Amino acid sequence: MVSQMVTFTNTAFKTVLNVQNEWLHKLKLAISNTHTKPFKRSASKNGQVYLIGAGSGDPELLTLKAHRILQHAEVVLVDWLVNSEIQQYFPAHVEVIFVGKRQGCHSMSQAQICQLLVAKALENKTVVRLKGGDPSIFGRLSEETHALAEHDIPFAIVPGVTAASACAAYTGIPLTDRRCSQAVQFVTAHCKDDAQQANWSQLVASKQTLVFYMGLTRVDSIAKQLIKHKMSPDMPIAVVDKGSLTDQQLCCRTLASIDAERDLKDFVGPALVIVGDVVNYRQRVDLTLLQANYFVEETQSPSCLKIKGA
Ligand code: SAH
Repeated sequence: MVSQMVTFTNTAFKTVLNVQNEWLHKLKLAISNTHTKPFKRSASKNGQVYLIGAGSGDPELLTLKAHRILQHAEVVLVDWLVNSEIQQYFPAHVEVIFVGKRQGCHSMSQAQICQLLVAKALENKTVVRLKGGDPSIFGRLSEETHALAEHDIPFAIVPGVTAASACAAYTGIPLTDRRCSQAVQFVTAHCKDDAQQANWSQLVASKQTLVFYMGLTRVDSIAKQLIKHKMSPDMPIAVVDKGSLTDQQLCCRTLASIDAERDLKDFVGPALVIVGDVVNYRQRVDLTLLQANYFVEETQSPSCLKIKGA
């Protein structure tokens, strides 16, 4: 009786599974018809471009999706901010072009990068444009997507861990803490022109965290402007140099006390500036726990693995 019951249950289960599998198969077909077909048609005509965020600093912040797509790349256009260790994940056959753009020393103009991106895609190639952090945060993304769209080249964007998230995590600064911060603003300290300078009076609103990108050479002026616009001189400010890398440095002061020449003389960048009471809620993070070799360390004999902390 029991065995019959089981047989019956199994059969019913199998029937349900078959129906489910059939349904799933149809669903997959439908999805591939809506997404893959037109995509592949244009791809065979024009190639395709993936604008991928490599994450900030630590190469292990590269996402699984970024890694998977990279394996299919024929050309990779790389920014200077991208950790060079990520190159170990590039497929062997790939053509790598450094289009490093660093403040003050552009190896290629943005227009040239856009042209190259389009040219490679028109050669019918799968192109990856690898950018530091997240491509849509101060990453000149729209210039590139605009150029691709103009040429009818299919593209997709893969998000990455932006510097604000990486620096917050690796310094233990919570970007929002309900006791003192209800919002975060990502601000560029490097505007296209003077007319687009930050709206300081809006930035000093209470209960928010300000994160300045590209601000290492402007720390003193950021602090002065905020005080001038009535932010408390006692407001904490943190500068994170080479966030999430093994040689990360952190400096925490107040707006009134920070002095870039004295406090940041060893900072080389890239660096992020965080302003807000959240800096005072920082908890010390044990960064050794994040190291790639933390759990398993090879000893002299390769067959004998030492487990850290065991
Ligand atoms: N798209 C990138 C930002 C590009 S703008 C992102 O999402 O992170 C370049 C600025 O990002 C640098 O000047 C610096 O302010 C910041 N930055 C990038 N990587 C960083 C790092 N590892 N540590 C601190 N700041 C970083």
